[in-house]
Amino acid sequence: MREAQAFYQRSISDPDGFWGEQAQLIDWHVPYARVLAQPNPPFRQWFVGGETNLCHNAVDRHLATRAEQPALIYLSSETGEERYYSYAELHREVNRCAAVLQSLGVKKGERVVIYMPMIAEAVFSMLACARLGAVHSVVFGGFAAPNLALRIDDAKPCLLICSDAGMRGGKTVPYKHLVDTAIAAAKFPPAKVLIVDRGLDPDMKWLEGRDVDYWDAREEFRDAQVPITWLESNEPSYILYTSGTTGKPKGVQRDVGGYAVALAASMKYIYDAGDGKGAGETMFTTSDIGWVVGHSYIVYGPLIHGMTTIVYEGLPIRPDAGIWWKIVEEHKVSTMFSSPTAIRVLKKQDPAWLKKYDLSSLKYLFLAGEPLDEPTSRWISDSLGVPVLDHYWQTETGWAMLTYLPGIELAANRFGSPGFPSYGFNIRIVNDMTGAECGPNEKGVLTVVPPLPPGCLTTVWGDDSRYVNSYFGQFEHELLYTSSDWAVRDDDGYYFILGRTDDVINTAGHRLGTREIEEALQAHPALAEVAVVGVHDEVKGQVPIGFCTVKDAALIATPEARAALEKSCIAKVAELLGAVAKPYKLHFVASLPKTRSGKLLRRSIQALAEGRETGDLSTLDDPNALEEIRKAVGR
Ligand code: ATP
Ligand code: MG
Repeated sequence: MREAQAFYQRSISDPDGFWGEQAQLIDWHVPYARVLAQPNPPFRQWFVGGETNLCHNAVDRHLATRAEQPALIYLSSETGEERYYSYAELHREVNRCAAVLQSLGVKKGERVVIYMPMIAEAVFSMLACARLGAVHSVVFGGFAAPNLALRIDDAKPCLLICSDAGMRGGKTVPYKHLVDTAIAAAKFPPAKVLIVDRGLDPDMKWLEGRDVDYWDAREEFRDAQVPITWLESNEPSYILYTSGTTGKPKGVQRDVGGYAVALAASMKYIYDAGDGKGAGETMFTTSDIGWVVGHSYIVYGPLIHGMTTIVYEGLPIRPDAGIWWKIVEEHKVSTMFSSPTAIRVLKKQDPAWLKKYDLSSLKYLFLAGEPLDEPTSRWISDSLGVPVLDHYWQTETGWAMLTYLPGIELAANRFGSPGFPSYGFNIRIVNDMTGAECGPNEKGVLTVVPPLPPGCLTTVWGDDSRYVNSYFGQFEHELLYTSSDWAVRDDDGYYFILGRTDDVINTAGHRLGTREIEEALQAHPALAEVAVVGVHDEVKGQVPIGFCTVKDAALIATPEARAALEKSCIAKVAELLGAVAKPYKLHFVASLPKTRSGKLLRRSIQALAEGRETGDLSTLDDPNALEEIRKAVGR
């Protein structure tokens, strides 16, 4: 671990030297004058005065060395489409798309909302915006019209790009129809709507004068060459709203140079990808372009690094639970990036699917997005036979805050731990009330001592004071970036995330993280997924209530069986955490409510369990799951 530690130490003690070196991983049109400037903390500027461009670094600069190498492979298990684009072809498509956008008035600094399913044109649109210096704001295609309207009004775009429809689990989702509804509700609607018509929605309506057909427009710009608009390193590249798990989403604003450098460095040190110069390997990130993982590791990261990226439209279990592994075999995927939720879904399927395909190309599976419980982590590590590395980050940071560093030296993986602070992140676990630093094994809030490294949010779009107050306002004595997550560091320096700071149960004077109780329940062999929330109690303040899904429905077939299982699960918690943490009640349900990004919606479960209304459900994935909770608690 010595090498990784020295690498980390240098990033903290000599940020100028460290990041100055990393900056060589990308192309600069105009060199920067200073690596770091902080005239007004907690704002900071990386690579001041340097001019660069994300599209140039992701596409154009590879033409000299790998024009014929595949850049993007588009696969849809929904429509059966498969398309391949070399770097030269990607360059051509992005230029044509940029020309179309330009013809519709898109310029430097203007916002473009992209509301699209996982298709190649969604990626071309993002890169085309970057090429023009326009600010894209990708809105996850699973969001309903009111969410889209909210984001339109915040970003005030000149253009919205969508497709007629997407497909999910064989069902058509009418994107353009949702766009029309959102625009009708929006105060700041875009002047133009550009539509990539996939022919999936025969009833789609066109609005004369506003709606533009992408295929027609693209025909007019067959051999278009759109020059790169060079941006100062700190100008905005995009806005991306956080998932909204805990409340109103925040418009995270990202820069250009810092982000490009951070991603380029992460491909090398965190993902250990490519041949050292970046060529010839394939990355498969199973997220969606609507999330930060999609921005960083479907689009910009792998392309900046000169890899082949896979854009996959479809579910992990359709047509069958082998689909991902089939993709790995067929496209020789070397680096895979997914989420614990998705792995838990696969864990419920027949394990034989994993054995059916040749996975020898795979070097690593990275996971992020929510706590990775030990049984899931063990199961997938054993099944794949390659390192499964958890890493922890947020929309705000753009890349990993806690991680292993296989590109430098792979520390022994400790189940349940996303590793150590990433280079550049001066992480400090502090007491949530006093801000005093916690010792080993002492639980506190995970914070970052400024400056935040390159790649992190520069502000909240249009709201500098929200940036300062919500992220740096928790402690009076010192400016610290708060992650709003609980964490603990063990004696060997491994970090563990213990859940969100608003997911705490205060029971009879004890403060318990819901995550800890969930972990204990997860150790029970009968349970598949669990959610624990604190519910108001006259006597104890709050009591923990659990909602669980079981691996085998036979286990809860009769009331007696349910009661016996509940008892043995509660006993498991008492055994692992002590009697004080014992759930007051366990409900067995068929599924748990999650956000569209796969995170448990604890605040809605808690509201129902306390007899309140659920509040904002705009990010809810499956309404049936919430009905299950409603029924369970007798609402
Ligand atoms: P909002 O901030 O709008 O409520 P969100 O926090 O769910 O939404 P994201 O930025 O997508 O939005 O998620 C980041 C959060 O996900 C982290 O703060 C943390 O709570 C959780 N998380 C991410 N990776 C991990 C991980 N490896 N282990 C545990 N938790 C994780
Ligand atoms: Mg968050």
